[in-house]
Amino acid sequence: MSFNTLGLSEPLLKAVKEQGYTEPTPIQKQAIPVIINKKDVLAAAQTGTGKTAGFTLPLLQRLDQTRPQMKKQQIRALVLTPTRELAAQVAESVKLYGKHMPYRSTMIFGGVGINPQLATIRKGVDIVIATPGRLLDIAGQKGIDFSALEVLILDEADRMLDMGFIHDIKKLMKMMPQKKQTLLFSATFSPEIKKLASGLLNKPETIEV
Ligand code: AMP
Repeated sequence: MSFNTLGLSEPLLKAVKEQGYTEPTPIQKQAIPVIINKKDVLAAAQTGTGKTAGFTLPLLQRLDQTRPQMKKQQIRALVLTPTRELAAQVAESVKLYGKHMPYRSTMIFGGVGINPQLATIRKGVDIVIATPGRLLDIAGQKGIDFSALEVLILDEADRMLDMGFIHDIKKLMKMMPQKKQTLLFSATFSPEIKKLASGLLNKPETIEV
């Protein structure tokens, strides 16, 4: 089975080919069509399974390539990650797979100055990859507007819970529209993850690889 049958458009297939990928991984086969169909997803996937491309490719496909009429600080997609390192990996994938597309993306994380991050968002960004704490700081200062958010992705949700980000995540969720697509990726389906998922996801498709 090749990437051609998953519903990805030419610019994405080209980027995938340039990466040298010939065949989608099991998580990619399952997740890509479901995410393009705008369904919520609860996915159990370890690092190394190709999960990052498994949500990044359909995210890039699913958004409209022309930015709709939006205010500058409004964003369309958000990926939350537990650490800066993981945020950097996801941000790199977004840039790599989206290189033939017009989206603008940026990374938000703590431990560095906040002002350059505020300035970047003010210029207009489509996709934000962030750790929860700094994003909440920025949101608290009205530096970002979630009212046009179409897709929310929680990557390594179990690690975010372990690191105590649950309250930050809940506060962020309250600022987001009810109607959006939410994807939750986690290495494990613990009772805590199931509880978080039941509050966050709407009739999710469950994927386990
Ligand atoms: P991840 O599980 O997202 O951390 O990805 C693990 C590694 O697999 C990354 O280095 C990707 O570049 C690579 N990868 C992702 N999808 C594919 C694919 N379909 N074929 C070959 N390598 C892939």
